[in-house]
Amino acid sequence: MRKKIAAGNWKMNTDVERAKNLSNIIAAGHRPEDVQVILGVPSVFLTEVMPGVKNYDGISLAAQNCNENDAGAYTGEISAPMLKSIGVEYVILGHSERRAYYHESDELILAKCRKALEHGLKPIFCCGEPLDQRKAGTQEEYVSTQLKNSILQLSPEEMSSCIVAYEPIWAIGTGETASPQQAQDMHHMIRGMLAESFGESQANSISILYGGSVKAANAKELFANPDVDGGLVGGASLKEDDFLQIIDSF
Ligand code: PEP
Repeated sequence: MRKKIAAGNWKMNTDVERAKNLSNIIAAGHRPEDVQVILGVPSVFLTEVMPGVKNYDGISLAAQNCNENDAGAYTGEISAPMLKSIGVEYVILGHSERRAYYHESDELILAKCRKALEHGLKPIFCCGEPLDQRKAGTQEEYVSTQLKNSILQLSPEEMSSCIVAYEPIWAIGTGETASPQQAQDMHHMIRGMLAESFGESQANSISILYGGSVKAANAKELFANPDVDGGLVGGASLKEDDFLQIIDSF
């Protein structure tokens, strides 16, 4: 059966002391045995945080991005082999903030996914529609195109190491959450597309996370849906009490 996952995306927040303190509290905190916790820590703190989490089961670290090349003259960038060399397991790719502010295209995100996979990192691939698409009722077409241009081009073996996160842009950091039914409908469509490309049994083994203003107060009703396998959590993952409650919401 597929994994239940509570993933945090700290974005460009914390300092070194807070990063260690927050990750230590989450690592030592309670989590159901079948829930995988992933902390998306700023890259500069990954090695600082690693000793505090690596001796615990059920918790791993993610980077928030990686470059599509192995190495070379790419000032300021961080490669998949670098992340692998410090023991990172996951990498968030295609987050809507990177698509919007750093102009990442579906094609670039696919190249990043391939590079991450080549070096043994597991991508958390993000997709999701802007508000105007949701208002026009074209959200499914929009997300299908994102998928067709990127992860649906991976091999079945590559796809087996990926997690998908559906994050409607209008719900990220806005306090507005997709309704449980809106989340379920989109997750169901995504799983259907995965089944068309990779077969039913593989589609049923891929975790699809919901992201967009997940909080302690709404996590349970979102995670209760059959195709929602957990959450990718921004703001609430920076508050230990809230995130621990979210981890316990399955
Ligand atoms: C995110 O950044 O992936 C996210 C979903 O943020 P928030 O939970 O703050 O909406």
